[in-house]
Amino acid sequence: MQKTIALVAHDHKKKDLIDWALTHKNRLEGHKLVATGTTGGLVADALQLPVHRYKSGPLGGDQQIGALISEGGLDALVFFWDPLNPAPHDPDVKALLRLCSVWNIPVACNRASADLMFGIESLENMQYKREVPIY
Ligand code: PGA
Repeated sequence: MQKTIALVAHDHKKKDLIDWALTHKNRLEGHKLVATGTTGGLVADALQLPVHRYKSGPLGGDQQIGALISEGGLDALVFFWDPLNPAPHDPDVKALLRLCSVWNIPVACNRASADLMFGIESLENMQYKREVPIY
Protein backbone atom coordinates (compact mmCIF):
# COMPACT_ATOMS: atom_id res chain seq x y z
CA MET A 1 0.00 0.00 0.00
CA GLN A 2 1.44 3.34 -1.02
CA LYS A 3 2.50 5.63 1.82
CA THR A 4 3.63 9.23 1.81
CA ILE A 5 7.17 9.49 3.12
CA ALA A 6 8.99 12.76 3.77
CA LEU A 7 12.76 12.98 3.48
CA VAL A 8 14.69 15.87 5.01
CA ALA A 9 18.40 16.25 5.72
CA HIS A 10 20.46 19.13 6.96
CA ASP A 11 23.49 20.03 4.87
CA HIS A 12 26.09 17.92 6.70
CA LYS A 13 23.68 14.98 6.74
CA LYS A 14 22.59 15.03 3.11
CA LYS A 15 25.22 12.54 2.03
CA ASP A 16 24.08 10.11 4.75
CA LEU A 17 20.48 10.41 3.64
CA ILE A 18 21.30 9.96 -0.06
CA ASP A 19 23.44 6.91 0.74
CA TRP A 20 20.62 5.45 2.82
CA ALA A 21 18.00 6.19 0.17
CA LEU A 22 20.15 4.72 -2.62
CA THR A 23 20.73 1.57 -0.62
CA HIS A 24 16.98 1.17 -0.14
CA LYS A 25 15.70 2.57 -3.42
CA ASN A 26 13.65 -0.57 -4.01
CA ARG A 27 11.73 0.04 -0.77
CA LEU A 28 11.15 3.72 -1.44
CA GLU A 29 10.09 3.56 -5.07
CA GLY A 30 6.61 2.24 -4.39
CA HIS A 31 5.77 5.21 -2.20
CA LYS A 32 5.01 8.87 -2.65
CA LEU A 33 8.15 10.80 -1.72
CA VAL A 34 8.09 14.38 -0.52
CA ALA A 35 11.01 16.45 0.73
CA THR A 36 12.35 19.86 1.53
CA GLY A 37 13.71 21.64 -1.54
CA THR A 38 17.41 20.87 -1.63
CA THR A 39 17.09 17.41 -0.15
CA GLY A 40 14.34 16.60 -2.63
CA GLY A 41 16.43 17.66 -5.61
CA LEU A 42 19.35 15.52 -4.49
CA VAL A 43 17.15 12.50 -3.77
CA ALA A 44 15.34 12.79 -7.11
CA ASP A 45 18.66 13.00 -8.99
CA ALA A 46 20.27 10.15 -7.09
CA LEU A 47 17.29 7.77 -7.19
CA GLN A 48 15.81 8.87 -10.50
CA LEU A 49 12.42 8.91 -8.83
CA PRO A 50 9.77 11.63 -8.63
CA VAL A 51 9.95 13.63 -5.40
CA HIS A 52 7.50 16.39 -4.51
CA ARG A 53 9.70 19.27 -3.37
CA TYR A 54 8.51 21.78 -0.84
CA LYS A 55 10.47 24.94 -0.12
CA SER A 56 13.95 24.64 1.27
CA GLY A 57 13.91 24.00 5.03
CA PRO A 58 15.16 27.45 6.10
CA LEU A 59 12.59 29.05 3.80
CA GLY A 60 9.61 27.24 5.26
CA GLY A 61 9.85 23.68 3.93
CA ASP A 62 9.88 22.13 7.39
CA GLN A 63 6.70 24.01 8.20
CA GLN A 64 5.08 22.86 4.97
CA ILE A 65 5.80 19.26 5.94
CA GLY A 66 4.42 20.06 9.40
CA ALA A 67 1.23 21.30 7.76
CA LEU A 68 1.03 18.06 5.78
CA ILE A 69 1.24 16.15 9.06
CA SER A 70 -1.54 18.16 10.67
CA GLU A 71 -3.72 17.58 7.63
CA GLY A 72 -3.24 13.81 7.97
CA GLY A 73 -1.21 13.52 4.78
CA LEU A 74 2.08 12.08 5.99
CA ASP A 75 2.85 8.49 7.02
CA ALA A 76 6.53 8.69 7.96
CA LEU A 77 9.40 11.14 8.21
CA VAL A 78 13.08 10.43 7.71
CA PHE A 79 14.76 13.52 9.07
CA PHE A 80 18.54 13.47 9.38
CA TRP A 81 19.00 16.68 11.33
CA ASP A 82 22.46 17.85 12.25
CA PRO A 83 23.30 17.51 15.95
CA LEU A 84 26.65 19.31 15.60
CA ASN A 85 25.79 22.50 13.76
CA PRO A 86 23.19 25.12 14.62
CA ALA A 87 20.42 25.66 12.05
CA PRO A 88 18.99 29.13 11.42
CA HIS A 89 15.55 27.56 11.37
CA ASP A 90 15.91 25.61 14.61
CA PRO A 91 12.40 26.62 15.76
CA ASP A 92 11.00 25.04 12.59
CA VAL A 93 13.00 21.87 13.17
CA LYS A 94 11.65 21.59 16.71
CA ALA A 95 8.13 22.32 15.48
CA LEU A 96 8.34 19.55 12.88
CA LEU A 97 9.61 17.02 15.40
CA ARG A 98 6.95 18.17 17.84
CA LEU A 99 4.16 17.58 15.32
CA CYS A 100 5.51 14.06 14.73
CA SER A 101 4.98 13.44 18.44
CA VAL A 102 1.60 15.15 18.48
CA TRP A 103 0.31 13.04 15.59
CA ASN A 104 2.25 9.86 16.34
CA ILE A 105 4.14 9.95 13.05
CA PRO A 106 7.06 7.52 12.81
CA VAL A 107 10.21 9.62 12.55
CA ALA A 108 13.76 8.43 12.02
CA CYS A 109 16.54 10.89 12.77
CA ASN A 110 19.49 8.72 11.82
CA ARG A 111 20.36 5.77 9.67
CA ALA A 112 19.97 3.14 12.37
CA SER A 113 16.46 4.39 13.17
CA ALA A 114 15.57 4.55 9.48
CA ASP A 115 16.73 0.95 9.04
CA LEU A 116 14.57 -0.12 11.96
CA MET A 117 11.58 1.94 10.87
CA PHE A 118 11.53 0.41 7.41
CA GLY A 119 12.01 -3.10 8.72
CA ILE A 120 15.40 -3.37 7.07
CA GLU A 121 16.78 -4.42 10.40
CA SER A 122 15.28 -5.52 13.66
CA LEU A 123 16.54 -4.89 17.18
CA GLU A 124 15.65 -8.49 17.90
CA ASN A 125 18.00 -9.58 15.16
CA MET A 126 21.25 -10.16 16.96
CA GLN A 127 23.07 -9.71 13.67
CA TYR A 128 22.13 -6.06 13.60
CA LYS A 129 25.18 -3.88 14.02
CA ARG A 130 24.71 -0.18 14.40
CA GLU A 131 27.25 1.77 12.38
CA VAL A 132 29.18 4.02 14.78
CA PRO A 133 30.18 7.36 13.23
CA ILE A 134 33.82 8.40 13.30
CA TYR A 135 34.23 12.13 13.94
P1 PGA B 1 16.81 21.57 2.43
O1 PGA B 1 16.17 21.80 3.83
O2 PGA B 1 16.49 20.17 2.02
O3 PGA B 1 16.17 22.57 1.51
O4 PGA B 1 18.28 21.80 2.58
C1 PGA B 1 16.44 20.92 4.88
C2 PGA B 1 16.37 21.64 6.18
O5 PGA B 1 17.32 22.38 6.45
O6 PGA B 1 15.39 21.52 6.91
